[in-house]
Amino acid sequence: MKTQIVKVSLENPEYNIIHIAAEILKIGGLVAFPTETVYGLGADAFNPDAVRRVFEAKNRPQDNPLIVHISDYNQLMEITDFIPEVGKIITNAFWPGPLTIVVKASKFIPTVVTGGMETVAVRMPKNKVALKLIDSLGKPIVGPSANLSGKPSPTTAEHVYQDLNGKIDLILDAGPTEIGVESTVVDITVQPPLILRFGGLTREKIEQLIGDVETTEDLKYIRRSPGTRYRHYAPEAKVVLVERGDALTFNRLVQKYIDEGFKVGYIVYSDEIKPDKNLVGKIVSKDIEIYAKELFQSLRDLDMQNVDVILVESVEAKGIGTAIMDRLIKASKP
Ligand code: AMP
Ligand code: MG
Repeated sequence: MKTQIVKVSLENPEYNIIHIAAEILKIGGLVAFPTETVYGLGADAFNPDAVRRVFEAKNRPQDNPLIVHISDYNQLMEITDFIPEVGKIITNAFWPGPLTIVVKASKFIPTVVTGGMETVAVRMPKNKVALKLIDSLGKPIVGPSANLSGKPSPTTAEHVYQDLNGKIDLILDAGPTEIGVESTVVDITVQPPLILRFGGLTREKIEQLIGDVETTEDLKYIRRSPGTRYRHYAPEAKVVLVERGDALTFNRLVQKYIDEGFKVGYIVYSDEIKPDKNLVGKIVSKDIEIYAKELFQSLRDLDMQNVDVILVESVEAKGIGTAIMDRLIKASKP
């Protein structure tokens, strides 16, 4: 299969391009599309064969369910019979945006989408290309991140091409994504709501609106988002976390890995840590939102430079920093 990349305007998506993409989806094809978080791999959510192809292209475990993307509230009714009050409140406030809610699945949702669960994850992305694409198809689409399962999520069309060239029909290229980490997944079938995955919408913002929520960390047991079991977001290189500002440990580890014969790279941001000029790496922004935006790109860039180890400076786990640390901890797992 030949994978085409087509540029599309973020502000005014060209009608003919969106139309072609929707036609591909209509016949069960796969189209990667931009969202405000990361690039998604789109397929008609009500076509089980097309959805199966998404799992194949990504090499994604079958029991890791997909997020259904909608462009208007009417489509919610095909997906679930019941939205709890709290769901109405948070979707009103944060949709379109980086919030995914988990609700009870209607009988129309193919089993392959939910991995056989009784619930389904759904969100309305804040990106005109994504919204127009769904509008043009006239149906919700599934949209997992458009990368190979386990790799850092794609924040540019290039990243999608690196991972999925030859496996999907089309990539809609609207430039780098705005947020750079995935959506926040909140299970609202339980009370209080449970954050299953930290992401672009912060816990603080959710709690300001609806009061305390729980997280899988608070609970430390069974109820987990299936996807969180897997090694994730990981570059080829080994990722090693260093405490914020801990130059001593950073320098010690650089020396240790060099002595062991490894090529060392870094991602740091604080003034305390000053990597040697001979090392490859990236000094990212102290602005945590920009760090989030550049994180996956930085990990992929370092892979391109064939480093063996990436030393990454930790961030404070608050605001979007919680999502960053979640990704880094998962990426650093052996
Ligand atoms: P991705 O689209 O690859 O960024 O991942 C989607 C995330 O949503 C994964 O962590 C899934 O486990 C989670 N998810 C999707 N559907 C459900 C569901 N019905 N219940 C719980 N988690 C879900
Ligand atoms: Mg993903």
